[in-house]
Amino acid sequence: MTESIAPLTLPADAPGWHDWLAGRVDGHLATAQEILDRLKDGTVRSTDEVLTLWNDADIALRGADSVAGLLNEVHPDEAVRSLAEDRAQQVAKALTERDLDPELYDVLAATEETGLDADAARLREHVLRDFRRAGVDRTEAESERLREISERLTVLDQDFARVIRDDVRSIRVAPDALGGLPADFIEGHPVDADGLVTITTDYPDYMPFRTFARDATARRELTLEFLNRGWPVNDAVLHEMFDLRDEKARLLGYDGWPAYDADVKMVGTSTAIAEFIERLADAAEPSGRRDRDVLLERRRQDEPAATALDASNLSYYSELVRRENFDVDAQEVRRYFDFGRVRRGLLDVTSRLFGVEYREVVDAPVWHEDVTAYDVLADGELKGRIYLDLHPREGKFKHAAQFDLVAGIAGRQLPEGVLVCNFPRGLMEHGNVVTLFHEFGHLVHHILGGQQRWARFSGVATEWDFVEAPSQMLEEWAWDADILQTFAVDADGTPIPRDLVDRMSAAKDFGKGLFVRNQVFYTAVSYELHRDRPADLTARVRDLQGVYDVTEYLDDTHFHASFGHLAGYTSAYYTYLWSLVIAKDLFSAFDPADLFDPAVAHRYRDRVLAPGGSKDAAELVSDFLGRPFAFDAFAAWLDREPVGVTRS
Ligand SMILES: [Zn+2]
Repeated sequence: MTESIAPLTLPADAPGWHDWLAGRVDGHLATAQEILDRLKDGTVRSTDEVLTLWNDADIALRGADSVAGLLNEVHPDEAVRSLAEDRAQQVAKALTERDLDPELYDVLAATEETGLDADAARLREHVLRDFRRAGVDRTEAESERLREISERLTVLDQDFARVIRDDVRSIRVAPDALGGLPADFIEGHPVDADGLVTITTDYPDYMPFRTFARDATARRELTLEFLNRGWPVNDAVLHEMFDLRDEKARLLGYDGWPAYDADVKMVGTSTAIAEFIERLADAAEPSGRRDRDVLLERRRQDEPAATALDASNLSYYSELVRRENFDVDAQEVRRYFDFGRVRRGLLDVTSRLFGVEYREVVDAPVWHEDVTAYDVLADGELKGRIYLDLHPREGKFKHAAQFDLVAGIAGRQLPEGVLVCNFPRGLMEHGNVVTLFHEFGHLVHHILGGQQRWARFSGVATEWDFVEAPSQMLEEWAWDADILQTFAVDADGTPIPRDLVDRMSAAKDFGKGLFVRNQVFYTAVSYELHRDRPADLTARVRDLQGVYDVTEYLDDTHFHASFGHLAGYTSAYYTYLWSLVIAKDLFSAFDPADLFDPAVAHRYRDRVLAPGGSKDAAELVSDFLGRPFAFDAFAAWLDREPVGVTRS
C-alpha cells in the first residue's frame, strides 16, 4: 500500500503570498545548500548514496525554481511578482554555483557506474554532462567568467520577458473601424467620451481585430503596434544576450551558441538545424506558394493594385478565404465554443484518452479567483494536481504556456502543474480551443511523467526539441467531429454540425504551406540571430522574412523585440517544426475512426509520456511506434491537396 501524499497547500488569503513565497524559496535554497555541503564533507559514500543526496538537493532547487518562476508571471500583486523575480534570480544563482562547484564535481566524478540500474546510470551520466556543460572543468578564471555570464543571462531573460509583458500598446479608432468584428467584441469595446474606441495589442484584442476588422488601415495600424512591442529596449537586450551566449559556448569549446545548445538535443548539431531549415522550406515551397496565390487573388478583389501579403492582411484574408471557399465562418464556428463548456470538454476528452479522472478542488486556495484546481486520479489513486489560469489580467504572462508548480517524485511529492493562458471568458475562437488542447498536452505530460525517482527525469524532461510533439499531437483531438460534438454546443444546445467540422478541416488543410513557411522564418530568425549575431537585427530579420516567409516585411517594424522565444528557446525555435514532424508520425499510429482506442492511447501514455526524461526521446518514440520516427507522415500531410480551393 502506498502512503498517500498531499498536494502543496497554497496561502489561503492574499496577504499570505508574500511570506509564503519567501519562506518556500528560502527554505528550499537552505535545504539544498545543506545537502550539497554534506556531499562535500569527505564522508565515504556509495554511488547510490551520492546520487540520492544529489537528487534531494535537486528536488529542493527545482521546487524553489518552479514557485518563483510561476508567481513571477501570474501573481496579481505586483509586489509578489517582483519578489518572485528576485527569488528566481537567487535560485538561478544557486543552480549556477552548484554546476560550477569543482569540489562537488569531484565527488560526483568519483562515483562509479557499476551496479547502478539504468535510470541511476543515466542520471549519473547526465549530471556529469551538465557539470561539463556548465564549465566546471575549465580554469578558475574561465569558470568565474561563466558564472558572471550565467547570472547576467538570467537578468537579461527576465528583462526581455518583462519588457514584452509590460509593453501593451493601443490604437484609438473611430467606431466604424470595428466593422466586421463580432457583436460581443464591439460590446466589450465601448466608445469613450472622445467618440473613439481603444484597441490594445493584448491577444484578446489583437487576434480578433487582425482577423475580422474590415478596415485595412486600422488593421495595419494595430499590427504595426503589435510588431513593435518591446522596441527599442529589447533590441539592446538581445544584442547583449546573443553575445553572452556566444561567449559562453566558445569558452566551453563549441563553435557558437547553436552548436552548444544542439549538442544535448535530438537534432545534435548546428549544421543539422541549418539542413532542417532548408529541408522544411523546400518541402513547404509548393503549398506555401499555392496558398499565397489564393490569398493574394482574394485581396486583389478589394485592392486591385496589391502585389503581396503582409502581417496586417494575412489573417484577414485567410479568414475570408475560409469563409468564401470553404464555407467556414469563424463567427459561426465560435458560437459552439463557450469557454465553460470547452474547459469541461477538454477535461472529459483527456480523461477518457489517458485513463485519468479530474476532481475539482473547490476550496483549494489559488492566487486569483479565475484559477480552478483539479486533482488528477488514476485507478482511484491521487496522481497529481492541476491549476487552470486561463483568462488575461493586468501584469499576467501574455502567452499560453504550462508552468511547473511541483515536480512529481515517486512516493515523495505529487506532480503539480499550471496552465497559464489568455482566453476570452465567453465565446472562443476554434484556434483558442486548439491552443488549449496543445497546452494541456504539456500539463498532462508533466503529471503523467511525474512518477520518477530522479527529479532530473520528472515530467517534461526529454530532450527539449521533443517537448512540443505530445502537445502538437493532442491538437488533433480538437479537430475531430465526434470529439467536438461532445462539448461544442451552441446556446440552444445544438452540437456543432459534422459537415461544418469537415469544412473546418478542409480549410485547415488550406494554409498549412503558409503556416510551415512562417514557422521556418521564425526558426531561421532564432537560429541565424544566434549563429551570426548581426549588427542590425532588424535588417537580418527583414532579409530572412524575404527568403523564408511568404508574407512581406512591414516597414519600420521590429518583430524580434517581442519574439519571446528568443529568451526561452534561444536558437532552437526549430523545435516546433522538428516536434511537428514527430507529432504527425506519432498520430499515424492512431485509428482516425476511433481516436480513443484504449490500446493505442494507453500504449502512448505508458511508453511516451510516463517515462518522462528517463530515456532518449528517439527511444520513447520507437518504443511506441515499433520503428524509428520518419519524415513520411509529415510530408504526406503537407502534400495533401486541400479540398474545395478555388484555383486561380
Ligand atoms: Zn507547446
